[in-house]
Formats: sequence, C-alpha cells, structure tokens
Amino acid sequence: MMERRTRDEMLHMDLMNGEARVMFCETTQMVQACSDLHNASPVCTAALGRLMTGCAMLGVMMKGEKESVTVTIRGDGPIGTMVSVADHGFVRATCDHPEVELPLREDGKLDVGTAVGHHGRMSVVKDLGMREPYIGQCELVSGELGMDFAQYFTVSEQQPSLVALGVLTSGERVLKAGGLLIQPLPGCTENTLEQLELRSPMFAEISRELAAAPKEELAEAWFRGLQLRLLDRTDLAYRCTCSRARMEKALLAIGQKDLQSLIDDGQGAELGCHFCRKTYFFSQEDLEELLRRGLKKEETGS
Ligand SMILES: [Zn+2]
Repeated sequence: MMERRTRDEMLHMDLMNGEARVMFCETTQMVQACSDLHNASPVCTAALGRLMTGCAMLGVMMKGEKESVTVTIRGDGPIGTMVSVADHGFVRATCDHPEVELPLREDGKLDVGTAVGHHGRMSVVKDLGMREPYIGQCELVSGELGMDFAQYFTVSEQQPSLVALGVLTSGERVLKAGGLLIQPLPGCTENTLEQLELRSPMFAEISRELAAAPKEELAEAWFRGLQLRLLDRTDLAYRCTCSRARMEKALLAIGQKDLQSLIDDGQGAELGCHFCRKTYFFSQEDLEELLRRGLKKEETGS
C-alpha cells in the first residue's frame, strides 16, 4: 500500500511491469495560488488549473536539471492566450483575460471549452538546456484541455494517451484539482489495453474523485489487479522563477534605441511579471547603467 500524502504531488507509476505508464497528480493548492494571483473567475480558474496540471505532467517527465516546458494555448475563446511553464514540479501560468465569466453548461459544469475556444492551436516547447528545443504543435480538438493534451501526445509525440484533467470549485475556492495520464508503452498487451478501456469511465471526473478519497487510494482501486507499481513521487507547487536579472535581460532585449528612449522619458521603467504579478522598478540610473552594459557587450561581441 502506498503512503497517503495530502499535499500537491505527482505520482509516477506503471502497470503490468511496464506495459503502461501512469501519472496521477493532485494540484489543488497550486491551482488556488494561481487563481488568487490572477484574481481569476471560476471558469478561468478551471481553465488555468487544467492547463497547469497538464503542463506539470510534461514537466515532471523531463529529466535534465535545466530543462523546462512551456505550453501555450491560443484558442478563439474570450480567455485569450494562455501560457503555462513547468520547471519539473514548479509550475506557473497566466492568461490574457482571467476575469472572463460564462454561464454554466447545461450539465451544471464550468464551460471551460467556450472560455478557451473550440478552435485554435496548442504548442509545446521543451527547453532542453544546451540542446535545440523541441517544439510540438497541434490543433485544439475541444478546448476542454484534457482531450487537447491527449491529442498532443498522440499526434505530436506519437504516444497514444488517455488524459483526464479536472478542477472542482466552489465560488472562489478550489476544492480539488488534479489529473491523470495513462500511456500504453511498447509491448502493452491487448488484455491490458482492454482493462484500461473498461476502467476509463472511472477517471472521467477526476476532481470529484479526488474530493472523495486520497489519490493513493483511488489509484489502488482503479488499477487493482494490474500490478500497480509506484516509481516516483514529485512535489508540485506554484512557483515563479522571475528575477531582477531576468528583467534586465528583457530590457536589454528591447534594443538600445528603445532603451535610450526610455531613458529620455526620464520616468524610469516598471516591469511586471505576468506569472506572479511582481513588479520590478528600474530608475533612470539603472537604465543608463544597463545601456552602458549593453554597449560594452556589443563592442566585445559577446
Ligand atoms: Zn514572476
């Protein structure tokens, strides 16, 4: 039996001695933190939460220390562009319009698909440290995000996958959030596939399931008889990696001409981080110093 833990965490498991991979996580606190930071409406909290949960799965699967993954959703819905970044278990997210509110669907659920949009593109960029980044893209299939992640894995990574993502809210509170990914691996038998197919209705409402029982208990029940094995567990948290140094880089990247015109304005510059809403102020002197550094760099050609 697996040890029960209530914090946000990814369980990395396998079935039948490696016939299928299972990633199962709870992301409740992470989604709440994101919702609070962006003052997001319930439907936007659900959309951001599902996106972050899917992104966390990709993040945890990456092995290299300096690797990270960015998932961008450009749908035609009112929420606008959504972005999530995962550095292994540290995840952050933002969107253009976190204030968007929509009527509930007929079945009483938050209308994530309409908020995100039923048409558009999903892109996944894996920053592999020293190597060339991996870029995968696919069309959105529903905007509900679970199916879209499944489509991404199947089409872009050629890895058939079942993905369930869910966020259960009550007003501003995130009651439960989490996700499940199942990937049959090479050598997966017909019998195991059939068993997973048979059991798939059990995973359909992942956040409600998580509200009823701890994730370890759910996993043990869902995969009973399939030799469930826990390989690894990774803590998940909402964390931004912005810093003054990164903002300086961004300022340098606008180019000397624009930097000079900022200096000429005489107001200094205030830069805000989209992911954590932190602001960084650069005084007139700071900007002049940056410009000098930029010029120097250019001279030495580095
Ligand atoms: Zn930040």
